[in-house]
Amino acid sequence: MVGWTFTVWNSPLQRVAGLTGRTERFGIMSEYQDVTYEVVGAVARIYHNRPNRRNAEGTRLLDELSLALTRAAADDEVRVVIIGGTGDHFSAGHDVKEAMERPDVVETRYAYEETHYLGLCLRLWDFPKPTIAQVQGACIAGGFMVANMCDLLVAADDAYFVDSTCVTLAAAATEVLVHPWVMGMRTAKEFLYTGQRMTAADGYRIGMVNRVVARSELTETAMKLASDIAKAPPFAIKMLKRSLNRTADMQGFRNAIQAHFDTHELCHTTQEYKQVRASGLDATIARAKRLAQ
Ligand code: ZN
Repeated sequence: MVGWTFTVWNSPLQRVAGLTGRTERFGIMSEYQDVTYEVVGAVARIYHNRPNRRNAEGTRLLDELSLALTRAAADDEVRVVIIGGTGDHFSAGHDVKEAMERPDVVETRYAYEETHYLGLCLRLWDFPKPTIAQVQGACIAGGFMVANMCDLLVAADDAYFVDSTCVTLAAAATEVLVHPWVMGMRTAKEFLYTGQRMTAADGYRIGMVNRVVARSELTETAMKLASDIAKAPPFAIKMLKRSLNRTADMQGFRNAIQAHFDTHELCHTTQEYKQVRASGLDATIARAKRLAQ
């Protein structure tokens, strides 16, 4: 995996480093670069941490997010996880510049997106502890799907949501079509067909957002909610989450998510998509920015 060093436990120095907490269990170095990991009481906070790139989700960030989730799942002291972002934005979505540098080959793209996008989102869905998305500023496309695969969503009043993947990239929404499940079908269609932004207040009105607070109160509000949930018996809440998710799964959630992933991958092979790709990244980004205003 990019950005991770696997420690070989063969020198006394490395063993000492492990004992002093410089290395994680599983022998993985703990110095994250593109996420932050912090445990406060019974709450693990995992933040996207590329603020100068509006927390764009590149490979290293997504791999570190996945590792941080593994760590939070394994830690019995952690009862609730908050997923957030440092700086002014939750996440402006996938690192499109990095994506454009990957080869335009169906087989490798499918494998990459299945692991990093679909796989990570289903890990969030199946995560054995309650999760809360803590959202400020931009929450766009790939960021939208990560935030909305969390159990609850707390937003600052400056938060906004956009998925203009169809309009600007000629692909059917992002890889994980969580939208109709959290927005309702009517709103999801308008949101995706137009690619226009939704405010935190509108997200609250339609039931996609649990709380909207002033930006200065966002962290505290998410922590209060997480701490309240952390008081519940952990095994019971794990079973409750499983039952709630199974309710959605029986309504077709998981099958629909997996079916859409294939539809999305098909769109990466179309003439429409190839034309967008050929017209250059700058034009796509400029159009996406106009829509997000
Ligand atoms: Zn894709």
